[in-house]
Amino acid sequence: MATGVRLLVVRPHPDDESSATGGILARYAAQGVPTAVVTCTRGEEGEIHDPDLDPVEARPRLGAIREQELYAACRILGVAEVRLLGYRDSGMAGDPANQHPDAFCNADLTEAAGRLVRIIRELQPQVVITENWDGSYGHPDHIMGHRVTRRAFFAAGDPHCYPDAGPPWRPQRLYAVVPVRDRWDEIATLLEREGLDTSFLERRRRDPHFGIPKEQTTVQLDVSDYVEIQRQALAAHRTQIPRDSWWLTIPHHIRRVAFGTAYLVRYFPAPAPGERDADLFAGLD
Ligand SMILES: [Zn+2]
Repeated sequence: MATGVRLLVVRPHPDDESSATGGILARYAAQGVPTAVVTCTRGEEGEIHDPDLDPVEARPRLGAIREQELYAACRILGVAEVRLLGYRDSGMAGDPANQHPDAFCNADLTEAAGRLVRIIRELQPQVVITENWDGSYGHPDHIMGHRVTRRAFFAAGDPHCYPDAGPPWRPQRLYAVVPVRDRWDEIATLLEREGLDTSFLERRRRDPHFGIPKEQTTVQLDVSDYVEIQRQALAAHRTQIPRDSWWLTIPHHIRRVAFGTAYLVRYFPAPAPGERDADLFAGLD
């Protein structure tokens, strides 16, 4: 039975839905487009920043805590459906958590894609958003998120693939969110002008491979009216985003510049050179 979801966002960890895709989800929800989020892991790794929690006590139940933070953030973003793919956070590349048998980076690709195919066939989205092919910053779960979503996107419409995972459903478009490298200097200049910290941008500015040139993107979506909703959704991730983080504290006028445009590339159908989509649904029924 169709749920009426039109946009499905697949992200590796709790908080990813609110960072690169938060403005997109808030914008389409505000337009009455039903949206869904699939989160591949429960974010069991990383530091615990919630000052109200004892990190030693909270560590064993961090996945459950972050699952609740994910639901809170998705309520703020107006997301209609939230699903978990059921894997474990792999941690950063080289982390001992990479070795955990349930780590997403070790998942069997066929099995993991099958779980997502079942969700795609249930929710029947027209448009799917995933990670860039290199995971944008090399995190093994982001790379795996791209591989699994790509496999599932094409398998979902094929009646010969995963015949036990529900009737075939063919989504029409696959996009990836991408960082755009020519923006770091612009944002840093704005921050410097106000005497604000730019240290979080330094790695991005130093690394010529972080992000792609703006001209290579297919969609440049205006989400500037939704950056405050996005900030509130990020704040719901209390264990992940420190209260004094730049994510939460930069002035609104800089936030509108820094987060006010969402950049995506279209993987399917492959765009002609220079082709641009004004909207993720432009030209669809
Ligand atoms: Zn992530």
